[in-house]
Amino acid sequence: MQRSFVMIKSDGVKRGLVGEVIGRLERKGYSILEAKLTTPDRATVEEHYAEHKERPFFGELVNFILEGPVMAMVVEGENVIEVIRLMVGDKDPRQAAPGTIRGDFANSTTKNIIHASDSVESAEREINIWFSK
Ligand code: ADP
Ligand code: MG
Repeated sequence: MQRSFVMIKSDGVKRGLVGEVIGRLERKGYSILEAKLTTPDRATVEEHYAEHKERPFFGELVNFILEGPVMAMVVEGENVIEVIRLMVGDKDPRQAAPGTIRGDFANSTTKNIIHASDSVESAEREINIWFSK
């Protein structure tokens, strides 16, 4: 059994898509092990996105996440990391297929509703950042 860290970003919470996103994960058969609506501090968000620190969009990304509360979750199931990434869809709205969360609800590369871990190592790191404090 595998675990992923999933976050409904500030745009998703603001737009009232928490139920929609959690519903999709539950209907897929995954379990929500932990969930908290939280307004993170800047250091937490910068640590979460540390891999993008040198990218030109880093500042814009961190400020966007800090615009309001996010829904941080630990989700469990078989192959959950890879399958949720499929359900999330591409970050480029021109590539995000209809039927995916981003394909159905996002039209921006930054404000794209949801984050989901991309590997076992990332999941472990991210769960630790968001749920050990
Ligand atoms: P993903 O969220 O699909 O794993 P990345 O890890 O590449 O995508 O990027 C992390 C987040 O940073 C994206 O979800 C998006 O919010 C933002 N982002 C990525 N690339 C860009 C970009 N070129 N311009 C603006 N924001 C971006
Ligand atoms: Mg990523």
